[in-house]
Amino acid sequence: MKGKTLFAATLLLAGSLLGACGSKSAETAAPPAPAAKAAAAVYECPMRCAGSTSAKPGTCPVCGMKLEKKS
Ligand SMILES: [Zn+2]
Repeated sequence: MKGKTLFAATLLLAGSLLGACGSKSAETAAPPAPAAKAAAAVYECPMRCAGSTSAKPGTCPVCGMKLEKKS
């Protein structure tokens, strides 16, 4: 009887520790999502052709104009 109560108390303690740990890691793992997406397309055709955005400088695949850096 006494041992069973101790086991239950240990389970409760372990559960609260796991819960605290889980919420902490979720907080730290959240941030870096929008920055990576913004860096994916920095150059764009001055005519704004569809699919002309690029992460690197180059020429537009639609009209052949030089891509301009977005600000
Ligand atoms: Zn273009």
